[in-house]
Amino acid sequence: MELVGICMICGRPNARYTCRLCGRIVCNNCYDFSNGICVACRGRMIK
Ligand SMILES: [Zn+2]
Ligand SMILES: [Zn+2]
Repeated sequence: MELVGICMICGRPNARYTCRLCGRIVCNNCYDFSNGICVACRGRMIK
């Protein structure tokens, strides 16, 4: 078994990004590149 990061939001493999707010490992679908955070944290942010 290889240790591939599992996205902690959607559960998919190939998670390679770390949210700088909550530290979750997430995939590119669940990562907000412009803010460096996951979509869960983005949903909490007031824009
Ligand atoms: Zn994901
Ligand atoms: Zn987060």
